[in-house]
Amino acid sequence: MPKLVFATSNAHKTEEVAAILGSAWQVEDLRVHPGVTLDEETGDTFEANAIIKALSGSRALPGHLVLADDSGLEVDALGGAPGVRSARYAGETANAADNRTKLKHELGKLPQTAPFTGRFHCCMVVAYGGAVLHVTHGSVEGRLIREEQGVGGFGYDPLFIPDGYSDTFGLLPAETKNQLSHRARALAAMKETLATLA
Ligand code: IMP
Repeated sequence: MPKLVFATSNAHKTEEVAAILGSAWQVEDLRVHPGVTLDEETGDTFEANAIIKALSGSRALPGHLVLADDSGLEVDALGGAPGVRSARYAGETANAADNRTKLKHELGKLPQTAPFTGRFHCCMVVAYGGAVLHVTHGSVEGRLIREEQGVGGFGYDPLFIPDGYSDTFGLLPAETKNQLSHRARALAAMKETLATLA
């Protein structure tokens, strides 16, 4: 089975990517390569940051095919925030619960009440030996609510209801999220390229 190193230490994201790619790929992440440090995410777009991760990861891991994603939540009523700052919305050392608290607070300050439209976006990049091989994007539209529902998924999932559903990603089964998520869509667009690299 060909191997793909996913340049993240976020076990939730790795679990999703492994489930979406299925048995065609062995997916491991930086927990298996603790010596690898990725360059700082200094870009102001998802694509710029995904490329930074993929290039630095593939330079640090010669001979390995490296996949990287940069993803986040965009809320229209907040001018696209938290966007590329999704992981650090409540501060540099913030955890997912802190970030959700900050989002609920920011939504609470708005004169408008629901619906708060928004989307998750993901940019996926595959790289080898310090060269970018392919870049794809995927997103899932939906709306944000101000009270958390469910404990599934990760990050902002308990606050996001994808279009066409009435439950949050925190309540929906993982299989459902993995069929329609931003990550699933970016990976679907990447699948043909991956097949040529297997
Ligand atoms: P990254 O690891 O730098 O790409 O940061 C991604 C951040 O965006 C995560 O820490 C979450 O806050 C948020 N995020 C990305 N994808 C998801 C998702 O599928 N569900 C919930 N939050 C997500």
